[in-house]
Amino acid sequence: MMGIVSHHRKPASAIRSDGQTDGTSAAVRHNPPVSHRTLLDLLLPSVCPLCTLANGPGLCSPCREELPELVRPCRWCGMPQTSTASDLACAHCADEGLPFLVQVTARWAYVERMVQLVGNAKAAGRPAAVKTCAGLMPVLDVDGPAVIVPVPPSPGRRTGPHLGTALARAVARQTGQPYACLLATTRLATEQHRLGAAARAHNVEGLFIAVGTVPANVVLVDDLLTSGATASAAAKALRMAGAQRVELVVLARTLKYS
Ligand SMILES: [Zn+2]
Ligand SMILES: [Zn+2]
Repeated sequence: MMGIVSHHRKPASAIRSDGQTDGTSAAVRHNPPVSHRTLLDLLLPSVCPLCTLANGPGLCSPCREELPELVRPCRWCGMPQTSTASDLACAHCADEGLPFLVQVTARWAYVERMVQLVGNAKAAGRPAAVKTCAGLMPVLDVDGPAVIVPVPPSPGRRTGPHLGTALARAVARQTGQPYACLLATTRLATEQHRLGAAARAHNVEGLFIAVGTVPANVVLVDDLLTSGATASAAAKALRMAGAQRVELVVLARTLKYS
């Protein structure tokens, strides 16, 4: 199936060109309040983390089939490609992708069901949603020894499980490569989603510093990719500390760069 994203069956609502939905999807309609969902995780660990259908652990089949998988994501920015004639790099990247990153692997579009699932995992800190996200990471074929490194949480963020850290641990298990926290933040920064594209790079300039011994080959892991400014700033810190090759793996990316 060709298109921006692939659904395994007809989606509940159309995805507009800006990646948003019409707001009336079944996904929105039967998503219970946050407090109820967190309680449900504790009482009923086998319910679907999206719709709360009690049909076994993890996503139920209808929710799983509605996840928006990226079609032919660009190897340098993860954006889906609409042309079958182009190579693995999109027109936006041309001959260069995100600064300091040699490759980007993304699996899902950050729309519809994925917005819900990540929201449940981050805002509500639901363990079942975090675990489900971990199981949906791209399957990696790591070339040679590497260290799996999470983009660290922002200082002062709300408590609860950090999704990026859980996803990095999942990638480490999947690839058999070691996991290490090799990045720290140097200061407080405004949350990136509150800023426009032009301000994002400035907001994270110098935000990260490498700690410990940085190996030659690093796989950087984060939950979401939008402009790439945060990932590039993290990769820059790793490169300055000795990494020769840094690639990025994310669960999902937005369908625009800002
Ligand atoms: Zn479900
Ligand atoms: Zn690209």
